Amino acid sequence: MFDKILIANRGEIALRVLRACKELGIPTVAVHSTADEDAMHVRLADESVCIGPPPAKDSYLNIPALLAACEITGADAVHPGYGFLAENARFAEILAEHNVQFIGPRPDHIRLMGDKIAAKHTARELGIPTVPGSDGGIGSDAEAVRLARDIGFPVILKAAAGGGGRGMKVVRAESELANALATCRSEAKASFGDDTVYLEKYLERPRHIEIQVLGDGKGRAIHLGERDCSLQRRHQKVWEESPSPALNAATRDQICETVARAMRDIKYLGVGTVEFLFEDGKFNFIEMNTRIQVEHPVTEMVTDIDLVVEQIRVAGGNDLSLAQGDVSFHGHAIECRINAENPVSFRASPGKIVHYHPPGGLGVRIDSAVYHNYVIPPFYDSLVGKLIVHGKTRVECLMRLKRALDEFVIDGIETTLPLFRALAQEAAIIDGDYHIHWLEEFLARGAVEQ
Ligand code: ADP
Repeated sequence: MFDKILIANRGEIALRVLRACKELGIPTVAVHSTADEDAMHVRLADESVCIGPPPAKDSYLNIPALLAACEITGADAVHPGYGFLAENARFAEILAEHNVQFIGPRPDHIRLMGDKIAAKHTARELGIPTVPGSDGGIGSDAEAVRLARDIGFPVILKAAAGGGGRGMKVVRAESELANALATCRSEAKASFGDDTVYLEKYLERPRHIEIQVLGDGKGRAIHLGERDCSLQRRHQKVWEESPSPALNAATRDQICETVARAMRDIKYLGVGTVEFLFEDGKFNFIEMNTRIQVEHPVTEMVTDIDLVVEQIRVAGGNDLSLAQGDVSFHGHAIECRINAENPVSFRASPGKIVHYHPPGGLGVRIDSAVYHNYVIPPFYDSLVGKLIVHGKTRVECLMRLKRALDEFVIDGIETTLPLFRALAQEAAIIDGDYHIHWLEEFLARGAVEQ
């Protein structure tokens, strides 16, 4: 398949990819900034290369340094993880020009889905239901007003090039629209270098449900079920689970089959996630992510399929190792993203972990790159690790989650563990009865103690 894989990332995802490479028997190269010299992915990889100083733009986003690292080590493939260069079509093209395989979709698919307007168009053409909204970027204020009146307030303005939960603005009344449009445009320009903004219906109480797909780039593609990622703060996912407590078998099968067919039609290569807002029994496409996602382990736990291994296999030109009929779903899985943050204010809390004791036992998985006495640097995201728990039923999964959270000790920094301990006891969570705004309402009630 590949002779050597360079992992262009850090933290838990670098370790996750490294584990897959080891199981496939492929040697690995870790890259790191000067801030990550002692990082676990560097220690466990076969080789490592320092690619620059701490700021990501000078290291993990530094394409010439990454190319040089491939050249020096003889790596013939790069796994980008998530974030950083994972959805950078130009990076994929540059690697190809240097005979290095990008482990991900074709650059044209990355580009297509990276433009949220083009992605919505494509989804519609492929028979995937989308959120009602503008056909393309909004031209004038008058056009925005006309559209918003047609659709009905509230509406949401979104940057075509947006991502990471940024570049969105909810507008509740016509009088606010022109101002909001101007602000959204200038923020989009400043953050993403593109001021194209589009408009869609703002859904008040939807769930965020996404479908995991896997394709071989030759017209075969399967789905691996859904994840419910409705527990969010500032449009960022906090807790994910599979299956969704909100779907019945018929609804699930229908959307999963529609999405898998669409992926076959476009000959999608690699892993991807098609994201929807689900309200009143209807799915509304919002975007597609063309990479492995943070929350992929919940799917792995209920399918027993190693998504990163499959991703590497198909990038190497292999056929899918399974057909749709080979995929079976069992039990329930929940993931908690544990961040180095104050659990109430969410202020970042980098620093030294003076005591670390992760939980264990049947059905408990920890994806993390931290260790006893590890110092979390202040330069990158605040994810300390992911606690993923599996049970035969959702009830068993929640009981196991509660006891795993009680066992978990991370001292020296603040973490979001207290938030998850509070959530695991909350009636609405136990009943699976929540939507994308539920967590912010819960936090506003002061329900979490530090
Ligand atoms: P990003 O690429 O920044 O993650 P998404 O389009 O995936 O942006 O949206 C992220 C989150 O923003 C969704 O999960 C949802 O909580 C919220 N959101 C996006 N579009 C809408 C909408 N039309 N109505 C209500 N909430 C929305």
